[in-house]
Amino acid sequence: MINVDLHTHTSASDGRLTPRALVQLAHDCGITTLAITDHDTTAGLLEARHQAQQLDLRLIAGIELSVSWSQTVIHIVGLNINPESLSLVQGTAELRERRELRAQKIGDSLAKIGFKQAYAGAKMLAGEATITRSHFAQYLVDQGCAKEVSKIFKHYLVRGKPGYVATQWASLEDAVSWIAEAGGIAVIAHPHRYKIGSQMFQNLLNDFRQCGGQAIEVVSGSSTPKDTNKFCRLAQRFNLFVSVGSDYHGPHQNWNGLGQLSSLPDYVEPVWNNFQDTTFTLCH
Ligand code: AMP
Ligand code: MN
Ligand code: MN
Ligand code: MN
Repeated sequence: MINVDLHTHTSASDGRLTPRALVQLAHDCGITTLAITDHDTTAGLLEARHQAQQLDLRLIAGIELSVSWSQTVIHIVGLNINPESLSLVQGTAELRERRELRAQKIGDSLAKIGFKQAYAGAKMLAGEATITRSHFAQYLVDQGCAKEVSKIFKHYLVRGKPGYVATQWASLEDAVSWIAEAGGIAVIAHPHRYKIGSQMFQNLLNDFRQCGGQAIEVVSGSSTPKDTNKFCRLAQRFNLFVSVGSDYHGPHQNWNGLGQLSSLPDYVEPVWNNFQDTTFTLCH
């Protein structure tokens, strides 16, 4: 097991725990270096930093950006960013606007198949947070449509299903450059989840490197040891640092959570050894 977790969510996006509660839980689980990486927002970091200082936990300012690349949605984690960097602030504001428009369209589509209050329900659950498909899934679970959110995704929210709305997210180039301009390191999140062939995946790695991307998540809460082995070898081949992150969203999740990630082989270079200064400023 490893005491680092560089991919987690709070109630600032689709995590169930407040930033404060997440930091406390991570500490209780033995994590000493934690990144919070909410979807297209850094809004949870201020509260998290306060709690991290109380517990002497090393908090890394992070984000998870939604990217459209070659007709596929890819998630790019940014680590050790300055949350107040202008291009990141402006870029993520635009992404959140697209999320809001998409949510309205998802609501319209779900209304057509009988879930009249889906938009209002998801919006209520999200509150001030970045609105995501997880909020729709949770609303539909609360309505008794299924026991688990994964079932809702499968039947309503993925491509080809009635509540799926294709969206143009950030380009790979923009997302990586916002992170770089914010002084951070761009990481390809949960690579085992993309449904693209190995040639396409190598094209992605090439494009990512060319844009200035530097790392790949080789251990994720939902990956297997075989995945880790495969992505460590690719990291070596493409000269990328490696990252580890549970993608923790809360106690409801059925994959490995905080403090349950496996260690790395010796031949890869951990991204967290390459963070310079990890203190970040937030003025508001
Ligand atoms: P969005 O970025 O709004 O499209 O929502 C993506 C989020 O939905 C991911 O970050 C996951 O938290 C969640 N998600 C995606 N697919 C599934 C699934 N099959 N089961 C449970 N949660 C999922
Ligand atoms: Mn999520
Ligand atoms: Mn993701
Ligand atoms: Mn995530």
